[in-house]
Amino acid sequence: MLEQLDKQYILNTYPRNYVNFKKGINATLFDETDKDYIDFTSGIGVVSVGHGNKEVADTIYKQVNNITHISNLYAIEPQAKLGEKIAKLSEMDVAIFFANSGAEANEGAIKIARKYGETKFDNKRYKVITLEHSFHGRTITTVKATGQSSMHSDNFSPYPEGFSYDNKIDDIYNSIDNETVAVMIELVQGEGGVQPFKKEDIQELANFLKEQGILLIIDEVQTGAYRTGEFLASNLYEIEPDIITMAKGLGGGVPIGAVITKHKDIFVPGDHGSTFGGNYLSTAAANKVLDILDEYKNSGKLDETSIYFDSKLTELFENNKNIFTNKVGLGLMKGLRVKDADTLAKVIPTAFEEGVLILRAGKNTLRFLPPLTISKEEINEGFKRLQNALSKIS
Ligand SMILES: *Cc1c(COP(=O)(O)O)cnc(C)c1O
Repeated sequence: MLEQLDKQYILNTYPRNYVNFKKGINATLFDETDKDYIDFTSGIGVVSVGHGNKEVADTIYKQVNNITHISNLYAIEPQAKLGEKIAKLSEMDVAIFFANSGAEANEGAIKIARKYGETKFDNKRYKVITLEHSFHGRTITTVKATGQSSMHSDNFSPYPEGFSYDNKIDDIYNSIDNETVAVMIELVQGEGGVQPFKKEDIQELANFLKEQGILLIIDEVQTGAYRTGEFLASNLYEIEPDIITMAKGLGGGVPIGAVITKHKDIFVPGDHGSTFGGNYLSTAAANKVLDILDEYKNSGKLDETSIYFDSKLTELFENNKNIFTNKVGLGLMKGLRVKDADTLAKVIPTAFEEGVLILRAGKNTLRFLPPLTISKEEINEGFKRLQNALSKIS
């Protein structure tokens, strides 16, 4: 039924699992036959406070029962309060533009960089350096910013100019020229394989770029909103980037993106905008999500959950050295490298049959992005089911 409808009316952009989820409670989902699944994906790092979160649901209900949207032609109280909250939690002197997705937040960041390059130097600077294996989005510009040549198909050309890719952080120093305006990177490459960079390397790069007057853009669409253990991975790395983008975990499932910058005077009215961005619905939801997560972090529970999750992950890794070669990641953004792509291709569907949802990243990484509020019982059950799946395939 659902499968047929989906195939008939929805464009074919994702290879889909034909399961029909009907109910969600924290990190547990139930399908139409009432079979339950432990969710180690949180909708790709989105449902940060769990499925069916009652506090967020009540907040959204109260908001949309009153005002859902009025446009950005009028000041929006929950938007202003969310801006204040993000600035305070980031511990930086910043202002924010709200968008609706990660790609759109990155578009905003690139526009700030482009205008900075046009107005702050003697010559025009417009080039943005990114890294190979990065992921920055699916719009024509952000897909070109993404350092994966397989995504730059001629089907969608021509692409905007001004993007180049380096293989590692060290190479960036040599690729900067007098037209370079910004370097855009993730601190933990998510889609690229849950690969964190070294703190010292990032701090050195941040200092160098500051001296050169070149902007550092950190794409925290996946790492932001406590995913790596701090509000921002930039806080964990102790850097103050020029621009930070957020999206995935920020709204707990409600679409929202944010461009956070120290350069508060670059944009003037007319430079950028969004009809939906930062409306009452999404910012009311994100305010509640951040209140929940801030309290969860301050009470020590986030760190406790993260440590417990890691201990079970380590156990799984140690007990299955015939399958896994390495454990990677930070906080509740974790990965296990699988010995080969064929094995990985078997693990995910077998885990699904056993009742645990899990992601892949890059060619050979099994990726874990559970809700940050996942319970000990859910963690135990999820790893038990994953072990059953591994035992079946090996
Ligand atoms: C998911 C992701 C994006 C794209 O976000 P969308 O909301 O899908 O547009 C961009 N950058 C990173 C690092 C991501 O993980």
